[in-house]
Amino acid sequence: MIRTKTVAFSKNSTNIFFHILTKCNLKCRHCYINPGQHGKNTLPLSVITAWLEAFARNSNSKNLIFLGGEPTLHPDLPAAVEYARTLGFGSITIDTNGYLFHDILSKIKPDEVDYFSFSLDGAIRETNDRIRGEGSFDTCIAGIRQANSMGFATSLIFTASSANIHEVDRLPPLIKYLGIDRFFIQIIGLRGRSAKGKQTRIRRQKLQVEKSQWLNSIPRVARRIAEFGITVTYPKVFLGPTENFECAGLVADNYFVFPNGRVYRCPLCEDFALHSLILKNNRLVPAEKLNERDLFQLNIAEGCVMNKLIQPDNLSYDGAGEPEYKIACCLLKEEIRND
Ligand code: SF4
Ligand code: SF4
Repeated sequence: MIRTKTVAFSKNSTNIFFHILTKCNLKCRHCYINPGQHGKNTLPLSVITAWLEAFARNSNSKNLIFLGGEPTLHPDLPAAVEYARTLGFGSITIDTNGYLFHDILSKIKPDEVDYFSFSLDGAIRETNDRIRGEGSFDTCIAGIRQANSMGFATSLIFTASSANIHEVDRLPPLIKYLGIDRFFIQIIGLRGRSAKGKQTRIRRQKLQVEKSQWLNSIPRVARRIAEFGITVTYPKVFLGPTENFECAGLVADNYFVFPNGRVYRCPLCEDFALHSLILKNNRLVPAEKLNERDLFQLNIAEGCVMNKLIQPDNLSYDGAGEPEYKIACCLLKEEIRND
């Protein structure tokens, strides 16, 4: 039976998103990495292990995700994974664009990582490669197939935007063919490259997905994919009139760690020096105020305060100037599985 549930922020588990470098071989149009804010350095293994230790308390309830940039560009990723295993993290995932540098699949065993998580942003080659770069579709698919054939569990992340939402109905056959275990849909956030440069307000607005487009396509497609026995997760985005708003920054335990030592609790704050924590002398300490924690406290009629500040074009107001709905925390997810 197909079951949909809103995955409330878990009070008993922690997610650590560890960017071990910001370097990448691709230049995806919506890349959220912002070297001016996140640093350009590649962390040496000695620092990676020290920072892992800073998060190691009660490690068995913590999910660790290695990312970048492209984390497989880091030659010491296998050693970092091995060390993280000795520290007892509950799960270890490697996010990758599929290029799988340094022959990573032959240097890590399937029982050492829980998932290799790949990214595609188009159901067809042309769309994906327009967003992520020429050749990236075929390379990613080859990477998934290779990882599966070697016994690794795999997942796929698809970032929905106005550039690809029109073809999401073509995703189910592709996902079935790929043989992945989990499928994640994200919605574009106006961060990093998509929020910068020569982007005008009109262009930025065009990247965002309208409420009707999202609600008319994503839940339906997610359900079709779940019928294959694949767990599908996607963000709630638009709250219904009876649904409560909660800010994960206040009620959940997520850490977004960057190579310059900044640690954020909210991904939408990452374009600004708003991190609430910092790694200093390999210890996690509070950052100076004002920071994201001060924003989390604000109670506004539109729901997520950072959404209102950085990407308000997904909001809509009635004749009296009241918001017609609230925007959920970007970390609030719907999960669909076939039990
Ligand atoms: S989105 Fe990921 S794969 Fe694409 S350029 Fe950014 S770090 Fe690289
Ligand atoms: S996305 Fe919005 S609601 Fe979620 S943690 Fe950030 S500020 Fe809070």
